[in-house]
Amino acid sequence: MNDFLCPQCGEHIRVGENIIFKVRNSKKQSALLLLSPQIGNYTSIKHPSFEIKTGEYLEFYCPLCNASLISDIHKNLAKVILRDETGTHSDVYFSQIVGEQSTYQTKGDSVKASGSDAGKYTHFRVGEKFKKYL
Ligand SMILES: [Zn+2]
Repeated sequence: MNDFLCPQCGEHIRVGENIIFKVRNSKKQSALLLLSPQIGNYTSIKHPSFEIKTGEYLEFYCPLCNASLISDIHKNLAKVILRDETGTHSDVYFSQIVGEQSTYQTKGDSVKASGSDAGKYTHFRVGEKFKKYL
């Protein structure tokens, strides 16, 4: 099983078949949002009272330490740590824009892009540039 960890506090944010985030929408309302631990699966679970619109920018936070998960690569991308069965760590970046399907799993120089909008953050497709951003 892949574990997901907060890059700040290192604690587990995957519980069962969900990764749990605290998010804040453009109206500054906060809520819990559950995402699938399967990369490329963009289903999400939230309380119906929390409204989000396609194209809206959400801010993702660790539910445990409250750290912002915004990445240093792009403000639209959040970052979490994936730890696989072998204990190997990689970085997973995903879009904080509602409805935008772009996920990148990176380890060293390798980048595995998933999602129909993966081409949007093109610096991931150029090895040299990507290294610069890391
Ligand atoms: Zn944390």
